[in-house]
Amino acid sequence: MITVFNPADGSVVGETPLMAAEEVAAAINRTCEAFPAWSAKPAKERSDRLRRWYDLVRADRRVFAELMVKENGKCLTEALGEIEYGLGFIEWYAEEAKRVNGETLPSHAPDASVLVMKEPVGPTAAITPWNFPFMMIARKVATALAAGCTMVIKPAEETPLTAWKLLEYAREAGIPQGVFEMVTGDPKAIGEAFTSDERIRKISFTGSTRVGKLLASNCGAQLKKMTLELGGNAPFIVFDDATLTDAVNGLVSAKLRNSGQVCISPNRIFVQEGIYEDFVAQLTTAVAKISVDQGMQDEFVVGPLINQQAVEKVTSLVSDAISQGATVRLGGKLADRGGLFYQPTILCDMRDSFAMHNTEIFGPVFALYRFKTEEEAIRRANNTEYGLVSYAWTTDLGRAFRLSRSLEAGMVIINSGSVGTASVPFGGIKHSGYGREGGHYGIEEYVQVKYVLMAGQQR
Ligand code: ADP
Repeated sequence: MITVFNPADGSVVGETPLMAAEEVAAAINRTCEAFPAWSAKPAKERSDRLRRWYDLVRADRRVFAELMVKENGKCLTEALGEIEYGLGFIEWYAEEAKRVNGETLPSHAPDASVLVMKEPVGPTAAITPWNFPFMMIARKVATALAAGCTMVIKPAEETPLTAWKLLEYAREAGIPQGVFEMVTGDPKAIGEAFTSDERIRKISFTGSTRVGKLLASNCGAQLKKMTLELGGNAPFIVFDDATLTDAVNGLVSAKLRNSGQVCISPNRIFVQEGIYEDFVAQLTTAVAKISVDQGMQDEFVVGPLINQQAVEKVTSLVSDAISQGATVRLGGKLADRGGLFYQPTILCDMRDSFAMHNTEIFGPVFALYRFKTEEEAIRRANNTEYGLVSYAWTTDLGRAFRLSRSLEAGMVIINSGSVGTASVPFGGIKHSGYGREGGHYGIEEYVQVKYVLMAGQQR
C-alpha cells in the first residue's frame, strides 16, 4: 500500500494500493473489453448516467470537500469551489454527449453522398496530478465517457482518496466496471503499461512538462492520440491604465489559490512603472490580511505546500532571487507554524535573469517585475518556453485586442484572474502542451472523424 498523508500536520489520511503489474493489466483489459458495449449505447443513456453521477456527488459534496482538505491541504472553501468547477464538467458533458453531430457535405459527384461520421477514439487512459484531485478526474472521465470512450485513470499518489470516492459514486450512478477504471501504484510502470498497450487509443495527461514529454515520446511509437496539459509560466501584466483595485484582487485570488500550486498561477507579475509603487502598496495590504492555516474552516486561508520537496523548491527560488537583489516586501520564508506552510511572499525588483523567471514557482510567491512600454511587456511576457495562459489588465480597448493577438498562450485573460469553467477550451501551446479540455472542443479530442462516400446511386 501507499500511505496518504495530510500535508497540514503529517497525519495519515489513508492508503491506496501499490498495484502489481497483473492488477494494472487486468484494469486495462476491463477498460478495453467494456468499449464495444459502452460506445454502442445510445447517447441519451450515457448522458443519463453521467447526470446521475453529478447528482449523487453534488448531494455529498461536503464529504468530498473534507477529504480533499485532508489529502491535498487546500482550504474548505477552495475545495467546495473545485467541486463546483469539476461538477460543471460532468453536467456539461452529460449534455454534450447528445450533440456529437456528424455532417453531410456537398457531394463532388452527381450520384454520390458524402457523410462525415464521428466515432469515439476507443479505450483511453489518463494520468492526473494532485493539485486538483476532484476536478481533473471529473473533467477527463466525463468527456471520455460522453464521447463513448472508456477510461482508466491513474490519479496522483498524493491524492488518490478523492479519486476512489469519485469511482465509488460513479458505480452507484450506473457507470460500470470497465467503463471507468482506476489504478494506483508505481507511476512509471503504469505510464508504460498505458503507453505500450496498442488497444488504448488515447492518453490524457495533466502534470509536468518533463513527464508529458516522456509519455508523448512513448505514445509516438504507436501514434497514440494525446491531450497534454503541462507546465506554465504565466505572465500577469498590469498597465498604468488598469483599474488598480480590481487588478490587485484578481491577482491575489489567482496567485493564492491552492497556495500557488496551480499551472495557471501568475508566475511573473509585470507592472508598468507609473503605478508600480501604488500597486505594490495595495497588494501588500491585501496579502498581509490573509492567514496561513490548516483548511478545515469556513474562511479562505493559505494552506500548506504539498510536500517537503515543494517547500525546498520555493525556499531555494526565493533565496536565489534575494541573493541577486530582489527585495522582500512581505514574507520570504517558512511560516512561523513551520511544517509545510510557507508565508505569502511579495518580491520586488525581480529581474528576468533570475531562476524564478523561468521556473514554475508552485508556491505563494508574488514575483514583481517593472516595465516601461507595451512592446517591452509583450516581448518579456513571451520570453518563455511555456504558453499556457497570459493575464493582462488594461482599460484601453485597442490595447486589449492587441494583447489578445500578440501574447503567446493558449488562453489570454483580460481584466480577470479567473480562467476555468466547463464551457471554455482550456489548454496551452509551446511546451505547455496541446489539445483542449472543456466545452465542445474538449469532446472533439475523444472523437475521430470518418469520411464515408456513398457513390453509385444512379438508377
Ligand atoms: P507534479 O509536479 O504535478 O507532481 P508530475 O508530472 O510528476 O507533476 O505528476 C503528475 C502525474 O504524473 C502524477 O499522477 C504522477 O504520479 C505521474 N507521473 C510521474 N512520473 C511519471 C512517469 N514516469 N510516467 C507516468 N506518470 C508519471
